[in-house]
This record gives sequence, C-alpha cells and structure tokens, in this order.
Amino acid sequence: MFRNFKMVSKVVFGRGCFSQLGDILQVQRQGNESVMVFLVDDVFENGGLKKRLPHNADDLIVWVNVDDEPKTVYVDQLVMQVKTHMADKQDNLPSGVIGIGGGSTMDLAKAVSLMLTNRGSSADFQGWDLIKTPAVYHAAVPTLSGTGAEVSRTTVLTGPEKKLGINSDHTVFDQIVLDPEMIANAPNPQRFYTGMDCYIHCVESLEGTYLNSFSQAYGEKAMDLCRQVFLADPEDADDRLMMASYCGGMSIAYSQVGICHALSYGLAFVLGLHHGIGNCVAFDTLDAYYPQGVKEFRQMMTRSAIELPRNLTAGITDAQMETMVNVALVLEPLWENALGKDWKTIMTREKISELYLKM
Ligand code: NAD
Ligand code: ZN
Repeated sequence: MFRNFKMVSKVVFGRGCFSQLGDILQVQRQGNESVMVFLVDDVFENGGLKKRLPHNADDLIVWVNVDDEPKTVYVDQLVMQVKTHMADKQDNLPSGVIGIGGGSTMDLAKAVSLMLTNRGSSADFQGWDLIKTPAVYHAAVPTLSGTGAEVSRTTVLTGPEKKLGINSDHTVFDQIVLDPEMIANAPNPQRFYTGMDCYIHCVESLEGTYLNSFSQAYGEKAMDLCRQVFLADPEDADDRLMMASYCGGMSIAYSQVGICHALSYGLAFVLGLHHGIGNCVAFDTLDAYYPQGVKEFRQMMTRSAIELPRNLTAGITDAQMETMVNVALVLEPLWENALGKDWKTIMTREKISELYLKM
C-alpha cells in the first residue's frame, strides 16, 4: 500500500507574516462569541509578543511550559482548562487552537485540538490512526526550526507507558504561519540542537532503505539548506532554516528516520533528554553507520562552538540500560529503514548498549 498522506492545508511564509495571523483567524471565527485558544511558549510571557497576539476579549491565552517535553497528563490538563473556559460560552468548542513556540508547543496545540473532540485521555490515542473525529481548527507559528513538527502528522507525547505520537490525518495543522522573524532570537545551543534535528532527519532519510524520489527531493533540498545555514551563515539564515525544517519534515513524511532517532527516544524516556540535544548526543556516536553525515555534523558543531554534554550514561543502572534498549528497539520501522529487512541480525541488544555507553 502506498501512503496517502494529508498535508497542511494552508501555508503563509515571509518575514513579518505573523502580523497577518489576525486576518487569517478572522475567517475561522464563527459568531460574536467565537473563542480562539492561544497556547504560547512561556519563554515569551514577558516579552513583546503578548501585545502582538491578535486576541479578542473572550479568547484564552495559555502560557505553556515546555521545560519537560509534552506529557499526556499535561495535554489532559490543558484540555480541561479550555473546557472550563468554554463552559459559559455559546459554543462548546473554541473556533481554533493556535500553538506558538517550538516543536513542543506545536505538539501541545495539535494534541489539545484533537482531544477537544475525542473523548478520553490523550494517552488512549498514542499510536497510529486511533483518532476518529476531526480536531478543531488548529494552526501553528514556529519559533524554532528543525523538528518539522509544523508539517508532520504526529504529536509526540510521553505517556505513562511510552513515548509515542498521536499519528493521524487529523493531527496535521490546518494552517502554518512561517515567519523567519519569529525564530530570529532563538539562542544557541537550542537553535543548533533543533536545527540539527532537521539535518539528522535528512541523513537518516537519504541513507535509509525506504528512500524514494519524493523523500529524496525534499531531503536533498533540506540538507543543502542546512549546509548553507550551519557551514556558511548567510544573511537570510533564518529564512533558509525555516524552509529546511519544512522540507526535512516533508522528506520523512514519505520515508522514515533511523538509528539516531531510535537511540534518542531511549535517552529521552530514561534520562529526560530533549529531542534535539538527544539526537546530537546519539548522532555523535554513529560514525560506523553514517560516516559522512557524522563528519559534517562535527564541522557544524565546531563552527557553532557547541560542546556536547558527555558521560551521560556513566552512572546508569542495569535496569535503566535495559529500559533504554527496550524503548529504542520498539521503533522497528526506524531500524528497518536504517539497516534493511534483516536488521535484527545486525543490531543486537549488546551493540545498542555499547552505543549508549559511549554517550
Ligand atoms: P522545544 O519546543 O522543546 O523548545 C526548547 C526550548 O526552547 C524551550 O525551553 C523553549 O521554551 C525554548 N524556545 C522556543 N522558542 C524559542 C525562541 N524563539 N527563543 C528562545 N527560546 C525558545 O524545542 P524543539 O526542538 O523545537 O522541539 C522539540 C520537541 O518537538 C520535542 O518535544 C519533540 O518530541 C518534538 N518533536 C515533534 C515532532 C513532530 O513531528 N511532531 C518531530 C520532532 C520533534
Ligand atoms: Zn527528529
């Protein structure tokens, strides 16, 4: 079966296009009491962004905290907050949910919009195509570029039992607002870590066995843009990085990521390491699998003066190592993409432990 995937319905791109958000949302507002919910990364709470939000008196602004990557309990709590806000309104549901932030905040917006129309806990929907009812209208404004969360059909959540996305056609944003000015002040090393998520998506997609011309076309473009941004530093680096993230996301939509992402999920689950930095830590040990990509990644690190944390797994228990290996191994399509159908004969538990011990 060929994947028949849903894409973001509307995209606006350009420096300053954030100021168009009010007009864009106006089209979605129904009736006089229409409510928009803005989920905004709390890193912006004390800056000038609040004044620029195109909000009406009845709208709800929630400053979300992403010190931890999104958890299902947090999503459920946000959904309750929105429902409480809607209790005395004419409509039961808001007209839209808008996520403004990095991958974590965009994922929160996707998840909340889905869980407003689907009963139960968000943990019940971690998996593939378990969502049956369309979400409320949802839009995103990225403030970091690299994850591709703005185009993907998943919202990655950590639940009581697993770190796994809610993957569905309904997860995909209805609108994205790609304004390079919104990522202009993202500080290093965060900008680098998130940017490298994109670079690593490209390496894993382009070197994977699932590769096809669709993925290759987007992957090569995204990789080229990453090189321009992280090896040359052009004046319009933010514009290029934003488009790299978009193309990188499109590339993996029709292929898959690989070994680095599988290992990074284990690091996140056991050590709480965030996605971008976890990928960088894992990728730096993968010379044997992605020699060219790792070499270039190190050049980019040097150029951005990034020092990776070391000895992260030095003090872990046997039980923690066991869990990390288990979490990594569950992601079978990633291993198959990287190593082919016979991956189980190539990648043993011992080899995975050895890689973790290098981190
Ligand atoms: P993030 O959203 O987790 O944010 C990282 C940090 O940067 C946070 O402290 C945040 O407050 C801060 N931040 C965000 N924008 C900023 C700005 N402009 N200036 C200063 N600080 C800013 O980072 P990320 O790397 O974009 O996203 C990682 C998350 O995305 C993980 O939770 C991961 O699981 C998820 N993810 C999702 C997908 C998907 O397809 N849905 C793909 C990859 C990763
Ligand atoms: Zn990633």
